[in-house]
Amino acid sequence: MSKKTLIIGAGGVGNVVAFKCAMNSNTFGEITLASRTVSKCDTIAKNIKEKIDISINTASIDADSISQLIELFEEIKPNIVINVALPYQDLTIMDACIACGIDYLDTANYEHPDTAKFEYKEQWARDKEFKEKSIMALLGSGFDPGVTNLFCAYAQKHYFDEIHTIDILDCNDGDHGYPFATNFNPEINLREVSANGRYWENGEWIETNPMEIMQVWDYPEVGKRDSYLLYHEEMESLIKHIKGLKRIRFFMTFSKSYLNHMKCLENVGMLGIKEIEHKGMKIVPMEFLSTLLPDPASLGERTTGKTNIGIYAKGIKDGQEKSIYIYQISDHEACYREVMSQAVSYTTGVPAMIGAKLILEKRWQGEGVFNIEEFDPDPFMEELMVQGLPWKVLSNDTLNLNKCSI
Ligand code: NDP
Repeated sequence: MSKKTLIIGAGGVGNVVAFKCAMNSNTFGEITLASRTVSKCDTIAKNIKEKIDISINTASIDADSISQLIELFEEIKPNIVINVALPYQDLTIMDACIACGIDYLDTANYEHPDTAKFEYKEQWARDKEFKEKSIMALLGSGFDPGVTNLFCAYAQKHYFDEIHTIDILDCNDGDHGYPFATNFNPEINLREVSANGRYWENGEWIETNPMEIMQVWDYPEVGKRDSYLLYHEEMESLIKHIKGLKRIRFFMTFSKSYLNHMKCLENVGMLGIKEIEHKGMKIVPMEFLSTLLPDPASLGERTTGKTNIGIYAKGIKDGQEKSIYIYQISDHEACYREVMSQAVSYTTGVPAMIGAKLILEKRWQGEGVFNIEEFDPDPFMEELMVQGLPWKVLSNDTLNLNKCSI
């Protein structure tokens, strides 16, 4: 029987997921794209029809409302819900999936709008309810989290007996021509970047000030770039699932101009997430800033350059020390030509589609709440190769270690 797929969220990532599901419509069957603003869904549906001649349905939904979600799920009866709205909606969408007995997938962990804190606690707590309904939730099926977790699982499976250290390296070398803009939802992006840094070593979390630790990493096909240590959510699940791990860190590249803008905005209070009074109205400075900044979905046609995201792992194989770098390079302009989105949305949306494809095709099956690295990485890694995100591995003999970290 033909499947039904519901995608929630019609931003930059939702656009890519909708395109990619439509390109794999043998698996995804009847596709519905729902978001708060239905006109955004309609524009995406129109572009998909014009570009690849596949029709998808659209719907309006406020995903903060469990009752609205349940009503929509009962009307559509999807086999899977792909959540690419904002992290604030993760719990309501999970709860509606539990109520209706539908598999769930997302790309970012739950955050409360009033506290910039990323943790899986509340999503993991729903494991029992997913098990009781014999359904599954796949958490973090984007790029980071997502592909980076699977790069670690793949390294563990094929290259190491034990992995001792992992550095996740996220380099976006794209240029959109604006003095300041974010490549995905501004609020989520700026909350992540302005928070304290954190990494895990010898069983403990070590906290740093925002942007306190900088290293220069040499990214293949991009070059040496300043890379700053941030906390990133995939570390929380990877420390549970990678054998023998002693340290894990996450680095992201930022230009000097981006950091200067961010510092100024922070200094004047524009990154605040608490309500303030302005001329008798309540506003949240960060939300107001989001309104002023370019919509990330509009950056696609003006962005040039590449992304290079990978994991640099060191450990032991057959008693010998070993190091590898597994990475993926995407070109912003090529992504735009294919699906009318820049590479940051593309590298998130394609893995979301692949995770859902493996669930619908029953190649990944389970009951409960899972982080992506708990599944066999091989089928996902094969799909990446053919769905637009080919990856490479450099190991001891091909990797010049002195070049990598300075
Ligand atoms: P955008 O801001 O471009 O899009 C978010 C979409 O969600 C918008 O269409 C918005 O609707 C919709 N939305 C917001 N609130 C609601 C609601 N209450 N009900 C229904 N829809 C709602 O974000 P992105 O596309 O850039 O990011 C999407 C997700 O992907 C985010 O969770 C982000 O954290 C995650 N992400 C994950 C990455 C990874 O590698 N794992 C990397 C990048 C992003 P509307 O505009 O119609 O009001």
